[in-house]
Amino acid sequence: MRLLIFGRQGAGKGTQSALLAEHYGAVHISTGDVLRAAVANATPVGLEAKSYMDSGQLVPDEVMLGVVEERLAQPDIVEHGFLLDGFPRTVPQAEALLGITDVDVAVDLVVPEDVVLERISSRRVCSSCGRIYSVGMPPAEGWTCDTCGGEVVQRADDTPEAVAKRLAAYSSETEPTIRCFEDKGLLATVDGLGTPTEVQDRLVAAIDAAVAS
Ligand code: AMP
Repeated sequence: MRLLIFGRQGAGKGTQSALLAEHYGAVHISTGDVLRAAVANATPVGLEAKSYMDSGQLVPDEVMLGVVEERLAQPDIVEHGFLLDGFPRTVPQAEALLGITDVDVAVDLVVPEDVVLERISSRRVCSSCGRIYSVGMPPAEGWTCDTCGGEVVQRADDTPEAVAKRLAAYSSETEPTIRCFEDKGLLATVDGLGTPTEVQDRLVAAIDAAVAS
């Protein structure tokens, strides 16, 4: 399965991608997670990406294409397929992606802006493994990750200023990107409101219907 998932910041893409990747046996690639690991390891890509990420801007297309092309060529992806979360985010990224691989379905997880703003302000994330928590659903003990024992923190780019920039970039850059997949008949639109299980059931039904058609 070769899947893309679109959705505003805070729409639940991270949570749903992990569930969907498991359901379809595909490899989950979150470009945000790949970049955060590169920043943490101070790689050349990380050093270049950090200031864009911290201020809520998109990392330049040529950097992103290098990261994604390298990852898609790895044997686990060739064998199991992929679920790309956070890529493509611009029309040139979409065109480049379609030049290197076919895509079976692109899903757009739709959540209204007022809901995502509320979710982002309460979001917390493990700085080590990326597991997502919230102020209302914290780890069992303090701010220590239940999965890996890492420190659970607020993302550096979940500040109000950076969030506003990311939402603006979503409207100006990513919404036209979604239309590319709609024009190709590859888009399934799914309501992202509800419990994680309800949303997952809707996503699986929409993906299965799109693949069968
Ligand atoms: P995310 O975790 O998906 O919200 O991504 C965090 C940040 O990483 C974004 O705000 C961008 O700065 C950067 N980023 C992730 N994916 C991309 C992409 N496809 N194109 C440009 N920048 C990206």
